[in-house]
Amino acid sequence: MGVAQAAEPAPRPLQVVASFSILGDMAREIAGDAAQVTTLVGPDSDAHVYEPSPADAKRLVSAELVLVNGLGFEGWMERLVRSSATQARVVTASQGVMPRRLDGADDPHAWQSLAHAKRYVENIRAALAHARPMQAATIDARAAAYRLRIDALEAASQARFAALPAEQRRVITTHDAFGYFGQAYGVQFIAPLGVSADSEPSARDVAKIITQVKRQKIPAVFMENISDPRMMQQIARETGAKIGGTLYSDALSGAGGPAGNYLDMMRSNVRELAKALVP
Ligand code: ZN
Repeated sequence: MGVAQAAEPAPRPLQVVASFSILGDMAREIAGDAAQVTTLVGPDSDAHVYEPSPADAKRLVSAELVLVNGLGFEGWMERLVRSSATQARVVTASQGVMPRRLDGADDPHAWQSLAHAKRYVENIRAALAHARPMQAATIDARAAAYRLRIDALEAASQARFAALPAEQRRVITTHDAFGYFGQAYGVQFIAPLGVSADSEPSARDVAKIITQVKRQKIPAVFMENISDPRMMQQIARETGAKIGGTLYSDALSGAGGPAGNYLDMMRSNVRELAKALVP
């Protein structure tokens, strides 16, 4: 009896750890079955102030590839990588992006530009293909298909904002995370309270916002971290500005939410902003 020809076993998936949910989603889109991707900072969580756990260090030890945003976003990552003594290759997804400056440092939120996202895709594709050369053709094809979907959303988003008068494209946000987005579509984002998104604004903060909205005749206000509806109603009543829905800046929503993956997140932000800025 001859030896049965066994089917070629599927190669073990590459073990990838992504620092936060948006990178994790991009890596899954591009890798498909070629990788098993886990993320450290999950949906609806803030990577700026993340505190890694011992379990995160363990995840890094078993990783073969670690994906980080860079541009100073994950201040905790370098130490985590060092203390875990992982042998994984660490790849910076934003490599090659020309950063904006924000308060004297690089603005890390480059994924908020679909044009920059294509740079992320290329960096992630190259890292995956390098780690799994036998699966490079599949990885390349998935990256190319993903890039086409990004292109389509980029064109649709540009058309949507181009239809709005330039002076109408001004928004107040609580978290200064939309500079790249604003650059792409000519929308001016004003964050009177700076970068911090983790604390509830005080009555004095709200008064400051009201003054600014009135003085600059800003048409829409997006305040992701005001949980008190009376504060929002006060801003709307005293300024006449429209109150926008939720904008997703640094994390995806849960799987069932409007921003369960990167493209849906960008689509949702474009929709919410364009809706609020219609004169
Ligand atoms: Zn941020």
